Amino acid sequence: MIILKTSRELSLMKEAGRISQEALLRAGELVKPGITTYEIDEFIRKFIIKSGATPSFLGYCDFPASACISVNDVVIHGIPSKKQILKEGDIVSIDVGAYYEGFHGDNAWTFPCGKVSDEAMKLMDATRESLFLAIEKAVVGNRLGDIGSTVQQYVEARNYSVVRDFVGHGVGANLHEDPSVPNYGTSGRGVRLAAGMTLAIEPMVNAGSCKVRVLDDGWTTKTVDGKLSAHFEHTIAITNNGPVILTKA
Ligand code: MG
Repeated sequence: MIILKTSRELSLMKEAGRISQEALLRAGELVKPGITTYEIDEFIRKFIIKSGATPSFLGYCDFPASACISVNDVVIHGIPSKKQILKEGDIVSIDVGAYYEGFHGDNAWTFPCGKVSDEAMKLMDATRESLFLAIEKAVVGNRLGDIGSTVQQYVEARNYSVVRDFVGHGVGANLHEDPSVPNYGTSGRGVRLAAGMTLAIEPMVNAGSCKVRVLDDGWTTKTVDGKLSAHFEHTIAITNNGPVILTKA
């Protein structure tokens, strides 16, 4: 069941989103050679708590950290670790959620660590661009397939692939709500978009094959071919005045 939000609920979600985005952007500034993903996660946890919110991911299905930090061929759900030291040329996807006054904000961004290859930069640029193009399609009267097909067409035209096994989602009082928001699909198909829907749109784009596998830790999700993957996400609201990005600083 898709839960539509009232304007009062949307204003609380805006605050949850603002905290999520600030945590993400500040964490991004820490992405430098020599820092551990554990240290970045510690910063995020403290920042969210200091902001009067709770990290959405900490303890969610027993996830052990406040952020997912996924490096290079890790697509999503990387577990921060004291052993993982970032190095020049890595691409680092940070996924952060904050829970505030009963609502979640959820967002992700892939940051370059120092100077990265042109190939890595192009992948990140294409993934970010596909997110913003998809957000433009999140308007009343369009369908869910318009969002997914926009991501898919944009990235496949650049010879990248879209992850199928994980998708975006509705978000609100629960971190994951209906509907599922795939990054692939057919325009004009699927659920009709309505004012009050709040969606986490999150393209996960691989440089090689779309195939991914989950490691034995039950979380870490890698590309099967070992090639790079990028991930960008915003929580947005569909309104009668067009899409509104809620994860905004
Ligand atoms: Mg999400």
